Amino acid sequence: IARDQWNSGWVEFYFQHMYKNIADCFNRPIASAPDASVDVVTRERSGGLWFRPLHDFQCTSSTTTCVNLASYNYLGFGGVDEFCTPAARAAALESGFSAGGTRTEGGTMPVHLELEKQIAEYLNKEDAMVLGMGFATNSAVLPALFEARAGGAGVLVLSDKLNHRSIVEGVRLSGATVRAFSHNDMGDLEAQLRRAAEEGQPGGKPWRKVFIVVEGIYSMEGDFCRLREIVTLKNRYPDAYLYLDEAHSIGAVGATGRGVTELLGVPTAEVDVMMGTFTKSFGSAGGYVAASKEVISALRRNAPGSAYASAMAPPCAAQALAALRLITGEIGGSVGAQKLAQIRDNANFFRTRLEEEGFKVLGDVDSPIVPVMLHHPNKMAKFSRACLERGIAVVIVGYPAVPVLYERVRFCISASHTRQQLAEVVSTVTEIGRSIGVLFEKSISRAE
Ligand code: PMP
Repeated sequence: IARDQWNSGWVEFYFQHMYKNIADCFNRPIASAPDASVDVVTRERSGGLWFRPLHDFQCTSSTTTCVNLASYNYLGFGGVDEFCTPAARAAALESGFSAGGTRTEGGTMPVHLELEKQIAEYLNKEDAMVLGMGFATNSAVLPALFEARAGGAGVLVLSDKLNHRSIVEGVRLSGATVRAFSHNDMGDLEAQLRRAAEEGQPGGKPWRKVFIVVEGIYSMEGDFCRLREIVTLKNRYPDAYLYLDEAHSIGAVGATGRGVTELLGVPTAEVDVMMGTFTKSFGSAGGYVAASKEVISALRRNAPGSAYASAMAPPCAAQALAALRLITGEIGGSVGAQKLAQIRDNANFFRTRLEEEGFKVLGDVDSPIVPVMLHHPNKMAKFSRACLERGIAVVIVGYPAVPVLYERVRFCISASHTRQQLAEVVSTVTEIGRSIGVLFEKSISRAE
């Protein structure tokens, strides 16, 4: 929350409602202090009320079976399936779950090497490195990239204001100077690049490197980074580099799933460092970074999350590899291509239908993340509870993930949703939206 918003009555108002909503959600007396409210949530979670994805793309609470629009499972490989699950199972039976060491201390297995080779080929990069955790891929790679050992000296990072926490952590750890630019605002980015070139470091020395750090799809907004413009701007400055986090876009968008570079027609050679995770489209765990041989070999030595952490669990690597092979069509015939077409059709159908019903929908066409504005803290719990009662699992996003009065519900679309499921969800959430007053055009015309 911005400092200048903090003194207003909104904050007190917001917290009062938040506690009440949390308490209401779980049929508990109102929580009076932050700690108490957190307790209510965690206790209920551990009791199993909280929904999590299960097979068949359904999820259950203690009372309801839900259509799951809460989880990242873009291609539907996150459950049990006939291609990835047997590969992961075979890896577990062959190697167990632990890699048993870091990559340099006996933890490297053929499946890691194959996954790295195939990721590099898929992205048309010279080399790739995989890590056991997506978050740690950013938080460990960025400091190594920005030469944290040298205190990040002379490195300036221009970071989109809405970048994920893992990026923020990595940049902070690196010790580099960081300046945030307004989300997807090319005027601001250009001004910051110009300022960096004109002013240099405090004291006047030129910056050694300027890194622009962006995401492919922003997970709270559902929009794509403006990659073409970013690349054009970057190319005007000789010491500028681009780091792209494709956690949500790899395997989810582009004709062959290659993410925003493919979707927006930008050669991957224009992106210096490409990062992604295996937790979304690949239905696994872990992350990758792909770049030139020189960069990857430096990262292998210097990124603490690679050099000092146990290697990715073999079944996770096998699951990610099988998903990648499906996407490229190496196995499963046309299954991968069908999934990619399906997620695009599903996402665009869902987005268009919600807009037609009068919801204020954020994000871009083709994005599988479809956020809808609720605009009011009090409507968050009502909306979420009504959805759960009607068999729909969604994620409600409020402060501090988004500013107060920018509350929203986020629908994550999967290739595994059927058209009928999505059509039914639209009609149910329209009823809910109407009853709690979050529809726009239609409610206005009714009032007229
Ligand atoms: N980057 C982005 C943009 C993310 O949204 C996330 C998590 N959703 C991560 C990195 C971290 O990935 P993981 O959940 O695989 O650890």
